[in-house]
Amino acid sequence: MAIASINPTTGETLKTFSAHSRQQIEQKLQLAADTFRTYRTTSFADRARMMQRASEIIETEKAEFGELMTLEMGKPLKAAVAEAEKCAWVCRYYAENAQHHLADQQVETNAQKSYVHFQPLGPVLAVMPWNFPFWQVFRFAAPALMAGNVGLLKHASNVPQCALAIEEIFARAGFPNGAFQTLLIGSDAVEGILNDPRTVAATLTGSEPAGKSVASIAGKQIKKTVLELGGSDPFIVMPSANLDEAVTTAVKARTINNGQSCIAAKRFIVATEVYEEFERKFVEQMQALRIGDPLEESTEIGPLATPQIVKDLEEQVQRAVAAGARVLTGGKRLDRPGNFYEPTVLVDVDVNEPVSCEEIFGPVAMLFRVSDIDEAIRIANATPFGLGAAAWTNDAQEQSRFIEGIEAGSVFINGMVASDPRLPFGGVKHSGYGRELAEFGIREFVNIKTVWIGQPQKSTKSTTE
Ligand code: NAP
Repeated sequence: MAIASINPTTGETLKTFSAHSRQQIEQKLQLAADTFRTYRTTSFADRARMMQRASEIIETEKAEFGELMTLEMGKPLKAAVAEAEKCAWVCRYYAENAQHHLADQQVETNAQKSYVHFQPLGPVLAVMPWNFPFWQVFRFAAPALMAGNVGLLKHASNVPQCALAIEEIFARAGFPNGAFQTLLIGSDAVEGILNDPRTVAATLTGSEPAGKSVASIAGKQIKKTVLELGGSDPFIVMPSANLDEAVTTAVKARTINNGQSCIAAKRFIVATEVYEEFERKFVEQMQALRIGDPLEESTEIGPLATPQIVKDLEEQVQRAVAAGARVLTGGKRLDRPGNFYEPTVLVDVDVNEPVSCEEIFGPVAMLFRVSDIDEAIRIANATPFGLGAAAWTNDAQEQSRFIEGIEAGSVFINGMVASDPRLPFGGVKHSGYGRELAEFGIREFVNIKTVWIGQPQKSTKSTTE
């Protein structure tokens, strides 16, 4: 895949980049290793000052960063600016909390003193996706740099300008040269970097195949990985829910980021008592969404990031229809330039067909009718993924059953799944392993070192000399 910014609204090529040569990669790896040797000794206070400065830069220039994201991958401008604000928040969060999250932890044992001590690991490779081109990177970089690691970013090939802008933010914030570097490389160069002894660990946010590849290469080298992969999140609605609120949130949860979010709700599982009303209102609201140029304030759905995503979506919808699904609205690409696909609602999707539980990366919703909570939980779990889940019910017993019974990294009751710097984020099953954000995220790339100091001993040294 060429490293290029191509405006998904118009198809215009904005900028192309040559991939780094072997020699350039070598220089960057060496710089990362050299920088780590000194950067690891900096104090939390110094790191926090730089991270706060990064936060301020993002906050001040959020309009420009937002426009860059929109131009490169098509998310509505309002959402892009909000993404920049969230990046400023995560930088601030870790500037304020890293020292506390990584403070020594005393443990009572038979020792005079024993405690857990956290130390940075070294250069960490981050392989990142285009869908939240700033947020995905900052939620890795803020904790990793605050912990004293250095970062190497291999961003998705369609967002190189965002990748370079992020590198510049950290440089302007005062981080030493080499503390955070963007590598302009294709995915074929990842293996060599993972095999290099100077790279000590890796994190990948992306698709299941990419995760499997990176984890297996890193596994052969005994290097730690964190994987944040895809999802097919359920959104369950029970009879006691506030239906209007559930419908409005469901539409938002499916179409956020033009439907290209790992934690977007993808399967809507609705109790039969409220199903008809939910379906009618959901379809009405999907049809009312304003599609258009993502740079315009009023736009709610912009283009998909690449022509390939439109093709994949078309193929999945066709497959569902061939297996008996009905299209209540949408179901095709829009007849206009750019990668636009109509907000789509599918019903009667056969739960035995793979498409019923695959990740659908675009504004296509599948509705399922269930007769009770057991069936709701069974369908919710009938997917290889386990990222997030939302369940709408005002019945306390039902809430507990969903919290205990759903196989996912998070369960949101009467709300929409979302990430928050204060809460851990990640998945189970094929959605990956490891956690980002909160204290769990910052402890992924550290040596959790046990320190044990014995009781004072009498010297055995002879005193007659
Ligand atoms: P992708 O195709 O897997 O790409 C993600 C990154 O991995 C890109 O930088 C890509 O580089 C690289 N890559 C692809 N194949 C690789 C390989 N074999 N070896 C090494 N690197 C490889 O995913 P995407 O289409 O950009 O992003 C969408 C996916 O990300 C969805 O599945 C979504 O659910 C997931 N996602 C997960 C989370 C989460 O937190 N769980 C968050 C956001 C997105 P190139 O661009 O150069 O191919």
